Parts: sequence; structure tokens; C-alpha cells
Amino acid sequence: MGIAIDFSGRAGRYTEEEIATVVAAMRNADPLTQGDLQRAFQEKFKTFNGAQHAFACMNGTAALQTAAELCLLNAGDEVVIPSHTFTSSAYPFAGRGAQLVFADIDPHTRVVTAEHVERVLTPRSRVLVVVHLYGFLADMPPIMELARRRGLLVVEDACQAVGTEHSGVKAGNFADFGTFSFHSHKNISTLGEGGMLTVKDARRAELVPMLRHNGHRAYAGERPDYWLPAMGDVDFPELDGRRLQPANYCIGEVECALGSVLLDRVQTINAQKRERALRFIDALADRPELVFHREPGPRHNYHLLAARMEGPASRRDAFIRRMFREFGIKCVVQYYPLNRYPYYRKLGFGEARCPNADDFFDHMISFPFQHSLTDEQLLYMLDCTRKTLDGLRAGKDT
Ligand SMILES: *Cc1c(COP(=O)(O)O)cnc(C)c1O
Repeated sequence: MGIAIDFSGRAGRYTEEEIATVVAAMRNADPLTQGDLQRAFQEKFKTFNGAQHAFACMNGTAALQTAAELCLLNAGDEVVIPSHTFTSSAYPFAGRGAQLVFADIDPHTRVVTAEHVERVLTPRSRVLVVVHLYGFLADMPPIMELARRRGLLVVEDACQAVGTEHSGVKAGNFADFGTFSFHSHKNISTLGEGGMLTVKDARRAELVPMLRHNGHRAYAGERPDYWLPAMGDVDFPELDGRRLQPANYCIGEVECALGSVLLDRVQTINAQKRERALRFIDALADRPELVFHREPGPRHNYHLLAARMEGPASRRDAFIRRMFREFGIKCVVQYYPLNRYPYYRKLGFGEARCPNADDFFDHMISFPFQHSLTDEQLLYMLDCTRKTLDGLRAGKDT
């Protein structure tokens, strides 16, 4: 049969109001980049998230690249990061000469804890990247306490966790930097690409506009001839006497206009995804072979719906195969431990003592869970999951 439920590359649909906002920005925005709509999006995000400084950029990776540049890494500095994450969490740091040190994850929540981080710290540890994977906000207070004690800069990769919160504090707002993505897959998307960087320290925040835009800045003071000496100045942003490398990570005004209106809806989307995830998880409570992470509160936005399948890894593969071939439901596996990719192996980061991350990846199932799934599709997926588990219990296909 054909695909009944795809693991879609697109998470959601737009409302008529959102479409009208895009059309109006297409007609009226002038300039089309770096104008009032960007400023408005940043202001609104600051209020939404409680951040001191927020900078819209072209995607989550650009936000991570900028955060990595602001960490002022030296060759040999160690950056602690979970092996179980998307590659963009890590390569901006590897690309700046840091040594990546992989931290293991908690097998139940599938994100790092202070204990897992502490185990791999050394006197050379400089930066910690905490990833709120699947949309679950890691336990930040003890992590920040540890980081402050050990003098680490902390980056929260909240690319999947926009809007989640823990004790009233939103994801991205515990650490020195927060990074967000509005990619096509994510709970809200600014037309396929988009991102936000939040920065706590004013001295670092001040440098972001130049870092984001080619090292450009306005000339200081009065200029009698507006065209002289040039349209704008170009220089290095400097931090602690070190020159930083700028790039062009700007995002367009149309995307920013859309981002602003999506912020009005993101918590509704998050709540709907959470409610559905809980419905799905609870309906399978009598199937102990599928282990979900159940979090009923706003600490999880269920960007993704992941489960561990008990038993041998071959059983997981049998489940996915049968779901696809018999029912047209496309589950996938995520996130390949970074140390297994050629990119990281070639850099010398092929080793990781992360047994929980390895075990989880080898047994995990990520169900298609885009916001645009209908209730009928969700019920169909539930029914097919039960049938597939029954089939595996009966010993077929294992
Ligand atoms: C999506 C994602 C990114 C990168 O975001 P882009 O907007 O695609 O560049 C980084 N980290 C995590 C955990 C992500 O899920």
C-alpha cells in the first residue's frame, strides 16, 4: 500500500491570518531584510521567552554558530555535549577547534543531567551544550549550579523546545545562550527556515548584530556627507581583545512578520501536541514493550513522539518494517549518535562512552507526529501500533 501517514518534512499548516500577514509583508516590507518586522519579532520573542536579548537569524544552526563564536574557544578547549542530538548542536564548536566530549543521556528522559555532565568534566572543559531533545526541557537548575561552580559557559539548544518551561522559566532562559529553530519540522516554522538566538550577557549581546551581518555597523557620529566614506563601516566585533568572525545569518522581513504572529499560537500548538502525545501514550499503557517518556506538564512540547522498544534491536526493526509495509505508517529512528558519523570520526571524535545513548538509539522508534495529523490518523496509528505489537507477540517477523 501507499503511505497513509508519512514522517512529514512539514509539521504544520498556516491559518488564514498567518497567510494574510505574509502577503501583507510581501507587499509592504521595505527593506525586505533587517527592518521593523525583525525588530518587532525580536521584541515579541523577548517578552514571550523572558529573554534579555534576542536576535532573529536564518535558522537554528546560525544561532548555534553565533553562540559558538561568542564562546571564544581556544584550541584544546573541551565542549561537553550529548552524543544523542542533531549534528547542528555540535559542529559549530568542532569547527572552531574545540575538543568535543560526549556526555551520556538519562535513559528515561533522553536528555543530559548534571550527573552525566559532571562525569566527563575535566580542567579543560569550557563550554556545555544542553539539548532539550524531543521538546523536553532538561533539568537546568542543577546543571547551571554545576556549570557556575566549574566556570563553564552554557548553551541551551532549545531548537526543539520553544515555549517549554520548568518552574516558570522558559527553555533557553537558564543559560548564557539559548538557540531556537523555526525549521519546517519544528512546532512553528517561518516558511521552512528561521531561528532565534538569546543572549544573557549585554557585552556579548552587543556584538551579535555585527556578527550576524558581515561585520557591518553604522559610522559613529555626524557625517556631513551621508555617502562618505561608505554606506557603512566594516570591522571585527571584538570580545576580551579577541577578533570574532562575522557571517551573514540574517533572516528576511516576511519570515519575521510570520514569526511574530506564530508566537501567538505556539503555546496552543504545544498544548495540542502534548495532549495528543499523552492520549497516545496512555492508550498504550497496557503494552509495556513500548516505553514512552510521559510528561504531562509544560516542560515537554512533544515536538517528537519517541519510544523505546524493549527486547532485541531486531524487534524494533520488525516493528517499523511491519508498520510501514502493512499499514503505510512511516516511523523513523533518530538521533544517530554523533560519534558514529564519518564527520565526527574524521575529526577524532569517534569514541564516546555513552551506553544509554547507544542503547536508546538502537531501540528507539520515532512516530510520525506532525501537528497536521488528523485525529483519525492518530487513532489509525494507535490501532496499527496495537496490531503490529500483537503480531510481534505472536512471534511473526521477529
Ligand atoms: C533543528 C535543530 C537544529 C538546527 O536548526 P535549523 O533551523 O535546522 O538550522 C539544531 N539542534 C536541534 C536539536 C535541532 O532539532
